[in-house]
Amino acid sequence: MNAFSFYNPVKLIFGKGQITKLTEELTQYGKKVLVVYGGGSIKKNGLYEQVMSALKEANMEVFELAGVEPNPRLSTAKRGGDLCKKEGIDVVLAVGGGSVIDCTKLIVAAAKYDGDAWDIVTRKAIPTEALPFGTILTLAATGSEMNAGSVITNEETQEKYGWGNPLVFPKFSILDPVNTFSVPLDQTVYGIVDMMSHMFEQYYNEATNTPVQDEMIEGVLRAVIETAPKLVKDLENYELRKTILFAGTLGLNGFLRMGYNGDWASHNIEHAVSAVYDIPHAGGLAIIFPRWMRHNVNVNPERFAKLAQKVFHVNPVGKSTEEIAMEGIDRLAEFWASLDAPTNLSDYNIDDSKIDLMVEKAMALGEYGNFNKLNAEDTKQILTACL
Ligand code: NAP
Ligand code: FE
Repeated sequence: MNAFSFYNPVKLIFGKGQITKLTEELTQYGKKVLVVYGGGSIKKNGLYEQVMSALKEANMEVFELAGVEPNPRLSTAKRGGDLCKKEGIDVVLAVGGGSVIDCTKLIVAAAKYDGDAWDIVTRKAIPTEALPFGTILTLAATGSEMNAGSVITNEETQEKYGWGNPLVFPKFSILDPVNTFSVPLDQTVYGIVDMMSHMFEQYYNEATNTPVQDEMIEGVLRAVIETAPKLVKDLENYELRKTILFAGTLGLNGFLRMGYNGDWASHNIEHAVSAVYDIPHAGGLAIIFPRWMRHNVNVNPERFAKLAQKVFHVNPVGKSTEEIAMEGIDRLAEFWASLDAPTNLSDYNIDDSKIDLMVEKAMALGEYGNFNKLNAEDTKQILTACL
């Protein structure tokens, strides 16, 4: 475990009916609010109406930016930033999943930056100021509601990068499991795969001797693995939605990451795939993560064997460390397949014709991964195994 500083200022407001807290939180930052949302799910499930009537009752002046795409695009964030500047917006409210929240993070930074917003994503410019924003989360997955990270796609150059800055922590996030009832089965599964992947990325880290963190990650993973098969058969079950929602937030709010950075290679490879093919983020992860594991199992088989026993309850009797490790990886792949997550790139009609382009995109910032450094050849082998 390495030296670390921990900082997370997000006010988490969790539970049924907590939207009643919305306007007392928002009005602290002013009267002019920009509401950012996606392709319309919040209009279908009634959340849009609830938000708008609360804002009206609080006499807020409301502006809207609708249509944020899954895998949010640079052009949409730029439109939002320009709108904030033009209208003198005081505070932004993101209502949606990780895409809406990530887009909002770039909007609030772009609103206070005079150059091209892509500079912020590529770290050419470091934001020195940002508008305040809050979120109402509608999908359990990314943890974006309680972290300062954001992933943006530049649709013109087919690049997808993560960036982050402490200025873009949400001021508050309202998490009501009821708002996730309408998430369809496939997106529910993607969310589960994404949050589990975040925990794996942190479990396979560059540090040694992290027993407290290991127990925390193993515990949250076990809770997800126990809950997920029940939830996929009972999508409007409050208790099950609640567990998964809380797990997604804990998965990437920094609590599980104290004392190391984590690996993040699978996320890097997935961003390269979805930059080229625009597939759902966690659909890509479900395919890539077991292959990343098989590729790296020999780096530290004991760690893989520990996960296999503590999370997937693999019986170690009469087996070598390597056998236990491999059985754990197989169990993970089987678990995701049992939820109907995709297993191969061919599920998205992706063949080997653009593998070199994906490798190039994954290598854009050089060798990557903290558990094990990967080069272009490693990346190609992993992607080939995914076909
Ligand atoms: P998402 O892209 O925000 O949403 C996926 C789909 O689910 C959208 O079509 C959305 O529809 C729908 N949806 C959301 N809430 C719904 C609800 N309550 N009922 C019905 N449909 C609903 O999914 P996400 O997995 O949360 O976010 C994925 C993005 O986050 C990717 O770009 C990924 O790279 C990024 N990411 C970010 C972080 C981070 O820390 N910042 C971490 C991991 C991944 P509408 O558009 O109509 O609302
Ligand atoms: Fe993710």
